[in-house]
Amino acid sequence: MSAAVPARLWPEGMGAAEVRALLEARQVRYALASFVDLHGVCKAKAVPIAHLEAMLAGSELFTGAALDGVPQDVSDDEVAALPDPASATVLPWRSDTVWLASNLQFNGEPFEACSRSILCRVREQAAAMGFRFQLGVETEFFVLRRGADGSLEPASASDSLEKPCYDLRGLLDNLGWLDELVQAMNDLGWGVYSFDHEDGNGQFETDFGYADALVTADRVSFFRLMAREICRRHGLLASFMPKPFADRTGSGAHFNMSLADLASGANLFEPEAGDAAGLGVSPLARSFIAGILRHAPAICAVIAPTVNSYKRLVVQGSMSGFTWAPVFICYGNNNRTNMLRIPGAGGRVECRAADSACNPYLASALLLAAGLEGIREGLDPGPANLENAYRLTPEQRQARGLTTLPRNLGEAVEVFAADPLPRQVFGEAMAEAFIDFKRQEWNDYHAEVSAWERDRYLELF
Ligand code: GLU
Ligand code: MG
Repeated sequence: MSAAVPARLWPEGMGAAEVRALLEARQVRYALASFVDLHGVCKAKAVPIAHLEAMLAGSELFTGAALDGVPQDVSDDEVAALPDPASATVLPWRSDTVWLASNLQFNGEPFEACSRSILCRVREQAAAMGFRFQLGVETEFFVLRRGADGSLEPASASDSLEKPCYDLRGLLDNLGWLDELVQAMNDLGWGVYSFDHEDGNGQFETDFGYADALVTADRVSFFRLMAREICRRHGLLASFMPKPFADRTGSGAHFNMSLADLASGANLFEPEAGDAAGLGVSPLARSFIAGILRHAPAICAVIAPTVNSYKRLVVQGSMSGFTWAPVFICYGNNNRTNMLRIPGAGGRVECRAADSACNPYLASALLLAAGLEGIREGLDPGPANLENAYRLTPEQRQARGLTTLPRNLGEAVEVFAADPLPRQVFGEAMAEAFIDFKRQEWNDYHAEVSAWERDRYLELF
């Protein structure tokens, strides 16, 4: 499959007044200058279409201190959103409104601590090396309804199988909202190629074509907005919480990555003739993998960014048996217990540790930066894991040098703070903002005394 080339709403270089006329002719009345906060959640100001020219020039101002992860003091000047015309998307559920992903600026200069700009910077480093970062993200999420007593249930009452993965009845029961969502994605030119009932009751996945990482990151942040909105209109809640239920699989956001030659578009992760290593990827891809393995614990804080994320990265914790989520820092063949898996068709690397709550810009920036470091230094990832990593004994893991991913957010944020790469990639202010926020998040969680603790300890001693 070749990368999906995004359909632009208007041709490159078209003047702002002409763009406004084009949008007005389509009955568009509002434009959204949108950017993401630390969590990858869209924030925006809306302008009536008469103000489009000013908005495209950066008229919309935001006080960063009001948001998570836009590190500013309350007394600072505002940051401005500079919309990227290539990202313009008419809302499928509201054809009078156009959304534009934006980069933040501060006093006319790029704002260093902007998630989208951070990815743009690493993308430029890749371009300087002759690479384009191609990314496809698998979207897993739960769609739930609130029961009369406030409890959360799968959207369809019959969705109660112990092994609901690929369940056709479960899929058909949910085809109303799913059809609307998939249709909207395809109308936007995303190229949905498959969707299914996932392994948890109420869990689904929609897969669409890979593209330039910046396009995919825009799409993932927009997708969450869109899925929530379409489901809300059906009286349902689409949730991107990584592990809403202890006894069901969590929601991953597997990152399928490859580098293309910037000039020819050729996939540089395709194996060489003969494929000496027999894994279906090129030596370049192996170095990319090695870079990610080197920084995996720190990267984990960004691709699995919540307290709840670490309840997904376990071996067991699903009614169907296993979780299919990674626990150990390893790479290997098609087997799903690898953190970095090389799917059967080869030519790409899938990072399975990323989850549905990650900020797609920060996650792809850090994964790409680590991979590029691996290439620059010609790193070798060592032998691939071809076995069920869940079943390896601690002795076997030790002998093979396989270590464990951070086991909670507190551990992850400390390795993130100690690794120099995230600071280089995010810039000092964003790295500090991330560390402060995530330490606090972990401390807040740790300060809670849960029902589990009372059940276990109150009368034990
Ligand atoms: N839901 C699993 C996860 O948390 C992945 C299942 C799959 O391989 O699609 O990563
Ligand atoms: Mg899946």
